[in-house]
Amino acid sequence: MVLNVDLHSHSTQSDGSLRPAAVAERAKARGVDWWALSDHDALSGLQEAAEAARELDLGFIPGVEISVLYSGVTVHIVGLNFNPADTTLQVGLAQIRQTRFERARQMGDRLQDCGVEGAFDGALSLAGNPHLIGRVHFARYLIQQGVCDTFQQAFERYLGDGKRACVPMQGATLEEAVGWILSAGGKAVIAHPGRYPYKPARRKALFSDFKALGGQAIEVVTGSHTPDQYRQYARVAREYGFEASRGSDFHAPGMGRVDLGLLPDLPYDLVPVWRDWIVEPGH
Ligand code: AMP
Ligand code: MN
Ligand code: MN
Ligand code: MN
Repeated sequence: MVLNVDLHSHSTQSDGSLRPAAVAERAKARGVDWWALSDHDALSGLQEAAEAARELDLGFIPGVEISVLYSGVTVHIVGLNFNPADTTLQVGLAQIRQTRFERARQMGDRLQDCGVEGAFDGALSLAGNPHLIGRVHFARYLIQQGVCDTFQQAFERYLGDGKRACVPMQGATLEEAVGWILSAGGKAVIAHPGRYPYKPARRKALFSDFKALGGQAIEVVTGSHTPDQYRQYARVAREYGFEASRGSDFHAPGMGRVDLGLLPDLPYDLVPVWRDWIVEPGH
């Protein structure tokens, strides 16, 4: 039997719609054996998540998804199995959170220029954690106001990278994000590598720079990849000697391509990022 491991998900502590304990319950109900909460730029949901997982007899790995600016594009670096009490990591994430609030004001102004009133206050009221206000909260506001029908439409018309109301996140550097995760004793993972709009040479530079900095793994099977991309990034993992991760990137019921725990298994020949942490039956 292969364990069901889902190491990428969000709660109300960033842009998810369920509290950490409710995400744990949902993971358990969908057959997940080991789960990581990986909120954007925040560790504040980890304690509730760990307690809920313990009560449910669900394996738990601490996670975080760090916003990074690399070659002008926002890249997400997931940290896994680190010490959440590490001050270097905590201070670094606090710096990123400070920039989110001002950025949200700017996005509110841009939406106003597009004729959408009250977006900053509206998005803020929809953010479970005001320090983590982000584009998903603006998308929820646009849908609530009837300006857009779906998340996809909100990102296509206003909030997607390069669209009218999108202000890029300043974020950390790649070196900082990987360094903070390693200093806290964790592993660094490139989240959904297929999602970044790089030309091939830049994408290769991301992989080699990440590896040179001590980054160990990439997401291969993720809710943010198509099945073709599972195969493509399995090849990248083999080529660069990266370990592989699997995670739904769950945000909310009905949002995104797959729910918690419902992804295919990793290709059998890849080394799972969790190999040293989770003993698989029969191995
Ligand atoms: P932010 O951290 O504020 O830049 O928001 C990034 C988040 O927006 C991602 O983590 C996703 O949850 C969401 N997102 C980004 N692009 C899209 C898209 N095209 N469709 C739906 N959600 C998206
Ligand atoms: Mn998100
Ligand atoms: Mn992401
Ligand atoms: Mn995510």
